[in-house]
Amino acid sequence: MAGNITFTMIKPEAFQNGHTGKILDMILNKGFRISALRILKLSQEQAGKFYEVHKERPFYSDLVGFMSSGIILAAILEKENAVDEYRKLIGATNPANADEGTIRKAFGQSIQMNAVHGSDSDENANIEASFFFTVLERC
Ligand code: ATP
Ligand code: MG
Repeated sequence: MAGNITFTMIKPEAFQNGHTGKILDMILNKGFRISALRILKLSQEQAGKFYEVHKERPFYSDLVGFMSSGIILAAILEKENAVDEYRKLIGATNPANADEGTIRKAFGQSIQMNAVHGSDSDENANIEASFFFTVLERC
């Protein structure tokens, strides 16, 4: 149901460093249900399209290069008030400012390599979920 899903990615550095299991554990422990999940490597073009909203920002081309540099995990998460609840669990964009107990505090390395993505609105959660998953791929 709209409002109850969010979309996440475990970013290349966190996947490469073997943090996937612990991150999924934190997600499940917070009461999220995983309704779709896959691992993949984005092309530069796909990463560029996903982050198109940031294309005027100075970090855009670095971000696209980073997000297409290795394997990521993409997932749809369900919970009451999923977008806000997940933003709380992931913490501030810059891991240095993230609260104790958040995913970015535990696993983020820098403002760019901050372990995970989380949708910022219900509308974007639905757009992002559809970018990665067809209806048939959601349970
Ligand atoms: P995300 O959208 O990945 O969940 P966010 O919503 O906390 O992160 P955004 O402002 O949407 O932050 O930025 C998207 C991503 O761009 C960040 O997660 C980070 O990887 C990168 N980023 C943001 N700000 C900077 C910056 N100042 N320098 C380098 N990279 C940045
Ligand atoms: Mg964002």
